[in-house]
Amino acid sequence: MVGDRLRAVVRREVVRLMELALSTEDEVLREAAVRHAVTLCRRTRTRMPRPYARLICRRCLSLYRFSEGSRFRVRAGRGKRVVVTCGKCGAVNRVPIEP
Ligand SMILES: [Zn+2]
Repeated sequence: MVGDRLRAVVRREVVRLMELALSTEDEVLREAAVRHAVTLCRRTRTRMPRPYARLICRRCLSLYRFSEGSRFRVRAGRGKRVVVTCGKCGAVNRVPIEP
């Protein structure tokens, strides 16, 4: 059982790790920071803050980077969605756009 107080601490730590991951050019550090943040969220059943969750590939847990070939495509029509392709593992993630 994880209390609200602990969850607040976890959330702060997750934000710190994700900001670190986003600001470093060190690939090893970046991967470790993302993995640690995701693990923290899973263990404590804390939701990863949305803006960060959108940047992480669900298959390989790397951050989407244009420099590594990640692509964002918008599919119009009914059920509008953004299609994100991971430049690292090639996984395709679809994010529905709320009306
Ligand atoms: Zn991936």
